[in-house]
Amino acid sequence: MEHPENSAEYEGLVVNAGVDHQDMVNPYLKNMRKNRTKLFTTDEYVEGILKGDVTRLSQAVTLVESTLPEHQRIAQEVIEKCLPFSGNSIRVGISGVPGAGKSTSIDAFGIHVLENYGGKLAVLAIDPSSEKTKGSILGDKTRMEKLAVHPKSFIRPSPTAGSLGGVARKTRETIILCEAAGYDKIFVETVGVGQSETACHSMVDFFLLIQLAGTGDELQGIKRGIMEIADGIVINKADGNNVEKAELAASHFRNALHLFPVPDSGLIPEVLCYSGFYELNIDKVMKMVFDYVEKTKESGYFQYRRNEQAKYWMYESINEHLKNNFFFNEHIRTMIPEMENQVLGGQMTSFVAANKLLEEYYQLMHNKNVYE
Ligand code: GDP
Repeated sequence: MEHPENSAEYEGLVVNAGVDHQDMVNPYLKNMRKNRTKLFTTDEYVEGILKGDVTRLSQAVTLVESTLPEHQRIAQEVIEKCLPFSGNSIRVGISGVPGAGKSTSIDAFGIHVLENYGGKLAVLAIDPSSEKTKGSILGDKTRMEKLAVHPKSFIRPSPTAGSLGGVARKTRETIILCEAAGYDKIFVETVGVGQSETACHSMVDFFLLIQLAGTGDELQGIKRGIMEIADGIVINKADGNNVEKAELAASHFRNALHLFPVPDSGLIPEVLCYSGFYELNIDKVMKMVFDYVEKTKESGYFQYRRNEQAKYWMYESINEHLKNNFFFNEHIRTMIPEMENQVLGGQMTSFVAANKLLEEYYQLMHNKNVYE
């Protein structure tokens, strides 16, 4: 049919017939996608990692993050073989609310560490929200411009695997692979909201809390129990006419810290002001971290904390496994909506419903064992 706009009324305007939508802009892309998940043998991954081959390391981390059973099987083997070569690093957790200046600071801290303390630096992240929000993927390369192009740094955004437990476990496993690849400084960035800070704390030797002056966050931090897990508190953006405010906030924090019991390390957290953007006092902040590590190594607390963390992760893994096993069980999955309805409708109490589900699950597990 002739297009109405081709009528004399719209003189000067010609409407051409459209073309069919193409399947794909680049037909070769399909094949490239397939190649991306090419698998190597466990030994090939391990060999590459131990040689410090960044590509092979990245590929192994992709397997760690994958939910496919075949990928997980290889990943676990690789981790096990890398384990004896891991542990020889300083792990630093860096936390702060969005906008506190984490990425700007990590860029500055990272370059300072590489230039003054040598070695290699891996920047990892724990951000369980990244799957939902997409935009806030911590550790994104573009957010750390200098580090991203530094030959001795390895930046990996947060895994996007649902539950916090899952995301944190993957980050912890990635630490092992990075250490085996020779990264002796590990930064773990985490967003300063919710439980991810506790998860981060459970895998680092030093937990650095970035705060801003004059946001009322001082009190929030105290309320949320975050002060208890901070090994050092730093006030960012202490530049220009913000310096005085930052100093004031620092003294508030110092006073507040006196209200808490002395941490197990025996070291009361230091509070410092700095500017990530203008690179002021970066050296002092990093010195605080490295001094702490040195002191705790001498006192034995460093190893004690790592042992405690290893224990914690054993239990965490069991919890995570049991939970997944239960909730991903086909039969349980079909039962849950009905139980939920009964609870919501007041026909059953929460405890009875939970018991029914668990009994059913145990029965299923029992039968499974009998027939296996
Ligand atoms: P993140 O969300 O915690 O990673 O924060 P960003 O590093 O993305 O920083 C948030 C904003 O604060 C950006 O606009 C930065 O330019 C700014 N910023 C970061 N550090 C400083 C600083 O030291 N001083 C000042 N004045 N601004 C900063």
